[in-house]
Amino acid sequence: MELNIKAKLAKDTIKADSEKHIKVNPEKCKVCKERVCLYVCPAHVYTLNKEGNVELELDGCLECGTCRIACVELEWHYPRGGYGVQYKCG
Ligand code: SF4
Repeated sequence: MELNIKAKLAKDTIKADSEKHIKVNPEKCKVCKERVCLYVCPAHVYTLNKEGNVELELDGCLECGTCRIACVELEWHYPRGGYGVQYKCG
């Protein structure tokens, strides 16, 4: 039976890295009008806090790179070796 995308992603595991592999620039985020990061991430790791600032919770990051393309102000690296998403095929 063919699995849908949610079921396929549920098979993956993510080993959280204590070092953030993506960093936002708070000063640039404050004046950003588009805030595309809130909309483009398939894992919805970007949120706004009560003060209206962008926050990032990387535990669900799929390392797809979409936000890296959408926002030039991000500092973006893959997680260190042994950390991050582990995709399961089949
Ligand atoms: Fe979201 Fe992909 Fe960016 Fe990870 S790399 S934060 S999953 S858009």
